[in-house]
Amino acid sequence: MEDKDVPSEECGILGIFAPNEAVSRMAFFGLYALQHRGQEAAGIAVADGTAIRIHKDVGLVAQVFNEGNLAPLTGHYAIGHTRYSTTGSSSKRNAQPFLIETQFGPIAAAHNGNLVNAAELRQEVLKRGVGLYSSSDSEVITMMLAGAEGDTWDDRIRNCMPKWRGAYSLVILTRDQVYAVRDPWGFRPLSVGRLPSGGHAAASESGALRTLGCNSIREVKPGEIITLSNTALRVRQAIPPAPQLARCTFEHIYFSRPDSFWDGLLVHEVRQRLGEELAREAPVDAEVVIPVPDSSIPAAIGYARTSGIPYNDGFIKNRYIGRTFIQPTDSLRQQGVAMKFLAIEENLRNKRVVVLDDSIVRGTTSGPLVRLLRDAGAREIHLRITCPPIAHPCFMGVDMGTYEELIAHRLTLEEIRDHIDADTLHFLSLDGMMRAIGRPSGYCNACFTGVYPIDVDAQGTKTGFEKAIA
Ligand code: SF4
Repeated sequence: MEDKDVPSEECGILGIFAPNEAVSRMAFFGLYALQHRGQEAAGIAVADGTAIRIHKDVGLVAQVFNEGNLAPLTGHYAIGHTRYSTTGSSSKRNAQPFLIETQFGPIAAAHNGNLVNAAELRQEVLKRGVGLYSSSDSEVITMMLAGAEGDTWDDRIRNCMPKWRGAYSLVILTRDQVYAVRDPWGFRPLSVGRLPSGGHAAASESGALRTLGCNSIREVKPGEIITLSNTALRVRQAIPPAPQLARCTFEHIYFSRPDSFWDGLLVHEVRQRLGEELAREAPVDAEVVIPVPDSSIPAAIGYARTSGIPYNDGFIKNRYIGRTFIQPTDSLRQQGVAMKFLAIEENLRNKRVVVLDDSIVRGTTSGPLVRLLRDAGAREIHLRITCPPIAHPCFMGVDMGTYEELIAHRLTLEEIRDHIDADTLHFLSLDGMMRAIGRPSGYCNACFTGVYPIDVDAQGTKTGFEKAIA
C-alpha cells in the first residue's frame, strides 16, 4: 500500500568490515537505519575469509531477519541492501545482494542507482553465454565483475567502471574484502566512517553510519573505489570525476534522513532554507503554517520563521502503518490518505492555513490532503511545494513514473491548483531551490528541467529494461 504521492525511494546499501564484532548484527541495525530508502526487500551477505553466506527476501528488514537466520551469517565482512524496485520489477529474484561463484572465489554486490545502458550491457553478458537469473541491472553489474580483466578485484572493478553509464553506488564483498564504489557523476550518496571497535563501514547515508557509532565520516568521492580496512582506508581514484557532477537534488528534498549529510550539507538545514525561500517567493496572509509530515517539517519551520506566521501541527501521521503487504478492504481503500493522516481540527478550524509539502508527482494525494483540511474547518488553504514542478521522469534510479503519469507534464500550474482544490499553489523556483542548497552547480535537476546530465532513452520506463530483454 503506497504511503503518499512522492518519488519512490531508491535503495539503501551498507558495507562493513569489523574485525572485532558480530558483523551480521551490525548489518541488521545499519539496514534498519536505511529502511526509509526501500521497503520491498532486504538482504545481508557475510564473508568469513573463505566463504560468503547470504540471506535475503521480500519484506521489511525486521520481517526478513530474525535470530535464526542471522546466526549462520558468521564472519567479519558484510554487505547489505534494502530494495525499492527501480530497474526490474519487485520480486524475490531481484532482491539483493547478488552472490555468484567465480574463478577467483565468491563475489557479492549491492547497488543503488540505475544504469541507463543496462539493456545493452545485458546483451553483452548474455552473448558471453552467461545465464542471468533476474531482470535487475545490479545482477548484470555482478556478472560483469566476474568476467572482468585484472589481477585483483580492485583492478576488475576499475576496468568495469568506464562501461557502466548512469547511477551506481556499490558495495562489493569478496571472501576477505569490502569495497565501496561510486559513479563519476556522483548521482547517489555513499559515505564511509570508522567504527568505534575497529574497522570501517560504508552506507548510503551518514545517518546510518552514526547509528553504528562511526566517526571520521567522509563521502566516497565520485569515481573512487575505497577498500574498507582495519586501519587506514585504501582509497583509489579509479576513474576521473565527470566534468559536471550530477548529485541528485531529491536527496535534499525528500529521500535522505534529515540527520544525514549530502554534499557536506546537513539535510535538515537545507530543508529549513527551502521553506525560507518559499516564504520570500510566495508570501501569504495566514494564521498558521503546517507541514505534511515528516519530510516537510523543517521546511514549515523555515517558512514560519521567515514569514512570522506561527508554526503548528495540522496533520498527525500514523508512523507505524509503513508499507504493508496486506491489501486493505474496499471501504478502507476509499479512506485513502485518511488511513495515513488525520487532521487536527482544533489547530485548523476557521484558519487560513499555509501547508508545506515536498513534491507533487502524480497528483494523487494532494487533493485528498486538502480535502482533509477543509473537512477540519480550514478557511483557506495555501499549498507551498519545496521544489519546482516535476515534469520529466528520472532514468537514474528514482521512480517518478512516466511522462503521462506526471501531473506537471499534463497540466498547467492553474489546472493543478484547480485539480487539488487549493486556494493558492506555489512551487519553489529552480533558482530558489538552488539558493537554499547553496551550491552554484554539481547537481542533477533533470526531473525539473528535462536537461539530463547523460544521454538517456526518454522512452524508457521502470520496466523498460525488462521489455528490452523480452
Ligand atoms: S532526475 Fe531528479 S530524481 Fe533523478 S537523479 Fe536527477 S534530480 Fe534525482
